[in-house]
Order: sequence, then C-alpha cells, then structure tokens
Amino acid sequence: MNIIYFDNSATTKIKTEVLNEMMPFLTINYGNASSLYSLGRKSKRAIENARKQVANLIKCNPNEIFFTGGGSESDNLALKGVAYANMEKGNHIITSKIEHPAILETCKTLERQGFEISYINVDENGIIRLDELQDEIKPSTILISVMTANNEIGTIQPVEQISKIAHSHNILFHTDAVQAVGNMEIDVSKMGIDMLSLSGHKINAPKGIGALYIKNGINIERIIDGGHQEKNKRAGTENVAGIVALGKACEIAGNNLDIHVNRLKRLRDYYLFKLQKELPGKFHINGSMEHRLPGNANVSFEGANASELIFKLDEKNICVSSGSACSSGNTAPSHVLTAIGLPDKYLNCAIRTSFGDSNTFEEIDYFIKCMKMII
Ligand SMILES: *Cc1c(COP(=O)(O)O)cnc(C)c1O
Repeated sequence: MNIIYFDNSATTKIKTEVLNEMMPFLTINYGNASSLYSLGRKSKRAIENARKQVANLIKCNPNEIFFTGGGSESDNLALKGVAYANMEKGNHIITSKIEHPAILETCKTLERQGFEISYINVDENGIIRLDELQDEIKPSTILISVMTANNEIGTIQPVEQISKIAHSHNILFHTDAVQAVGNMEIDVSKMGIDMLSLSGHKINAPKGIGALYIKNGINIERIIDGGHQEKNKRAGTENVAGIVALGKACEIAGNNLDIHVNRLKRLRDYYLFKLQKELPGKFHINGSMEHRLPGNANVSFEGANASELIFKLDEKNICVSSGSACSSGNTAPSHVLTAIGLPDKYLNCAIRTSFGDSNTFEEIDYFIKCMKMII
C-alpha cells in the first residue's frame, strides 16, 4: 500500500524535475566550481544560474543569495554573523518564543558568549506581541529575528510591521522563512527583510542545502572558516548538485505558487470540514486560522496521546507528526503550544498535518476513517 504523507513541514519528497536537473552534477559534471578549466566553469555557471532562480522567488538580487548547508546553518549564520560583526555597536538581540530550535539554540549559545536575548511572547493565535517587541528595544539592540511562518502551527507573522519597527530604530531584521518560502508570496524589499533563511528539503529539493539572503550593504562575520567560496561568507567546496536542485525547486515554486497555495488550502479546509463532520466536539484547532500557511493544520484530540496516535496511524501507512519532527521522541510539551497558552488537556494530544502537492482528497477521507477508528 502507498504511503500517505501528511508531514510536508518536516520534509518533502524531491520532485522528479529537480532530481533530473541535479543528476548530471552527481555524475558527469563533477568539476569543482573554483577550477579554471571548462569542467569547473560548468559547475560555476550552474551555481550562478541557481542563484538567479532563488533570487527570483524572493525578489532580490542574485548577489544577495548565499548558499549554505541548510536552514539551520542559514539561521546560525544570520544570528552569529550579525552578532559577531556588531559587537562594538551592541549585544542585544530580540526574537520570539516560538522560533525553530535553529534560532532558539543559537540564541542560547550567544547568551553564553555574553549576548543578551529577549524572547517575545505571542498571543493565543500565535502572533507576536508587537507592543512587547517595541518595549524591549534599547540602544544596544542590533538585531530582531522573527520567523515568517511557524513550523508547528503555521502562523504567519506580521513581518512588514516588525521590519518597520526594526528599521525605525536602525536595527537589522532577519526572518526564518524556511516554512514560508514556496507556500506564500515573499518579496524581501516590500516586506523590509534584511536577511532571510530558506531550506531546500522543505520545498522539494534535497536535504543539506539552503540559502541565506543578505541585503547588499549588510556586513556579517562568517562562521565557517576556510576558502573564499560564497564571497567569503561561507567556506567549503560548493554542493553543486544541491545548489542546482534548490534553484530548480525555487523556479518551480515561483511558477506554480497560486495553484499550489490554493490546492493546499482546499486540502487543509477539507480535512477540517471532515473532522467537524466525523468527530464533532472531539478536537480543538491550534493557532490562527486567518494568518496561517495554506497546508498546515494543528489539531488537539482531547484525551488522546500524540505519540500513540502517530504509531497507530503509521500502522495504516499514514505519516503525521506531533507539532515538530525535531521534538519527536521528546516528551516535553511543545514550546510553541505552551507559548500560545494552550490548556494542559490539549498539550500532548496535538497532531500536525502538513499537506503537499501530491496529496489527494481520498487520502484525507482514509485518514479521517482511521482517526475515527483509533479515537
Ligand atoms: C526545517 C526548519 C529549519 C531547519 O532547516 P534544515 O534545513 O532542516 O536545517 C529551520 N527553521 C524552520 C522554521 C524549519 O521548519
């Protein structure tokens, strides 16, 4: 029986077109992009083409895109890079309580190194408290980092408002847009974004490739030392195949954005509609329905246990997760669900379904049938 994959926020399947595009760079076109002969120049050209494709998707200049080893590395590079480059100016960074561990753990490391971090609360919908953000700003604040969309509950933050606040105080603004890119319109200049993290495997490219957008004129310190690749911002021989794949995935995402978003919304809304029909009164939706990624649903099933549900669904070949893949196996309640003030009875029974292009309405029918049986 086929796998029913409802966990596209954890990772996605590589698209065939993406795989086909990267394949030559895993086989015949193996040149080092820094080599001067034509085999090397072929790799270099492919990288620069991918840089354009990524830049097109978020509407920046190609020379503002820096390839990294994934979303986590992009987050580390943004935060540490700004922190180390601005030590004379200040040591204070503002972020939110519902960030991905790639941000929160980086902040903890920076705290140990003498930086001061403010973690801003969110409301019951998962939206950052802008008044609190304003109040935390001080002369030593060098950076505000708030995610565009949350990986557990899909909440979309008021990025434009946050960047306006940041810039009115001459503070840089970074956003972790790993979940947002490819699932909503991103225009870095319209949204006032100075730095943006994205990741390949969340948008149908392979794992281990990502990018950081750094607006021209912003100086950051590199965190991986070595050769002069990526204009001295990220050392290491380029992952040409991964970069080519990321570029192709961004091109596809840009060409199909409206259709993709509409389809995901229809799948998600159908799921919630069927839940209401088949399991009325037995579930609670977590996070804002208004400001939310199209493919995300996060639902608590009172009285159930999330990990038990996941294992029982796995027996039916259905993949879902409890909040975030990163904390599975971890029994502590989700920091995101805790931050939105969810009552205890809803904390350990939350199931995140994140839909993707290849999902169907029939799969949702089957999923609901299984859930009904299990519950
Ligand atoms: C997946 C994810 C990351 C980490 O990206 P990797 O490429 O897996 O390192 C960071 N932030 C968010 C919001 C994510 O969903």
